[in-house]
Amino acid sequence: MDKAKEALRQKQSQAPIIQLKGVTKRFGAVTAVDHIDLDIYPGELFCLLGGSGSGKSTLLRMLSGFETPSEGQIIIDGVDMAGVEPYERPVNMMFQSYALFPHMTVFDNVAYGLRRMKFSKAEVHAQVAELLHMVQLDDYAKRKPHQLSGGQRQRVALARALARRPKLLLLDEPLGALDKKLREETQFELVKIQEQSGVTFVVVTHDQEEAMTLADRIGVMDRGRIVQIGEPRDIYEYPGSRFVADFIGSVNLFDCSIGEEGEDFTILDSEDLKGSIRVGHGISGAPGSDVSYAIRPEKIALNRDSENADNEFSGIIEDVAYMGNWSLYRVRLDCGCILKVSQANLKRQDQTNLTWDDRVFASWSDTAGVVLPS
Ligand code: ADP
Ligand code: MG
Repeated sequence: MDKAKEALRQKQSQAPIIQLKGVTKRFGAVTAVDHIDLDIYPGELFCLLGGSGSGKSTLLRMLSGFETPSEGQIIIDGVDMAGVEPYERPVNMMFQSYALFPHMTVFDNVAYGLRRMKFSKAEVHAQVAELLHMVQLDDYAKRKPHQLSGGQRQRVALARALARRPKLLLLDEPLGALDKKLREETQFELVKIQEQSGVTFVVVTHDQEEAMTLADRIGVMDRGRIVQIGEPRDIYEYPGSRFVADFIGSVNLFDCSIGEEGEDFTILDSEDLKGSIRVGHGISGAPGSDVSYAIRPEKIALNRDSENADNEFSGIIEDVAYMGNWSLYRVRLDCGCILKVSQANLKRQDQTNLTWDDRVFASWSDTAGVVLPS
């Protein structure tokens, strides 16, 4: 078991810090959050991932106490939160960087909450210094927010949110205001800060790559429900539905029906592909019933000659996009459908030199794809 998995198991061996039981929120006719059951464990970095309007912010606002559930129960650190005011909860919500006090220095911004808690001057000093060190802003204490970059402001906001030692920090699209490159750098910093602080983070994002980078576990949301919960890798490799397969990363999806079944394989007949797909395991489901088959672009090989692979379809390269360290090919298969294939560019000079209009064989093994409900 790798280190990350072991660390997660350790966290999950404790009592959950958040328990949601049948939590529902309705706004008039709209059900924003629909019967969510969810346990989050101390020290976890949990990401709520979903498209716009899927209910992520509403769920976060119910945890913080700014919104009241229509139904269900929220328990934080063993205490039922019904009737508990936001400021009485062991929870802090991180707002975006513009919520910093513009006229105050970085030091005073971070110290603000601590001063209101009536710590001594020396204690405030020591704690702010520690927090600024954690977010790597030791030398910026005297600056004002407008003298900082976007990423630095974000880190001040984070230090300030952590200052009051919440058990739980809620972050709604925390990196949304940053441009792509800064965003990616800040993601790694956020993970580091979360680990060092030991505080449980619940981060809302609509960006699947961000969720993959940040999370111990991801809860994928669709129309107010959590449709799958898991570690990033498991969600990517074993999506439970077409929705999740399609939402997380890129995928080729085919409509199929269950055909011949052998001892250690199943044949799927695909109308889309005008052929069949071999799957290296049994499938629960009656022969003839409908399923979907999902295969990721990077699991497919392209060759000029047949490889006699478990699954092989010929076609013509219709488009190539060179993305630097990898290339994306769109192959028009003989059945007429398009197959997305990506290949890592390991060598400076690609020996196969596949290009537009080349005739190719696209192949993959019988364990490379996933069979999903149709
Ligand atoms: P997300 O954060 O995933 O984009 P939200 O939680 O903001 O989604 O919204 C979920 C659904 O609830 C949307 O349909 C939204 O329009 C609705 N909604 C959210 N807040 C309110 C509100 N205060 N009043 C009415 N409808 C709301
Ligand atoms: Mg939102």
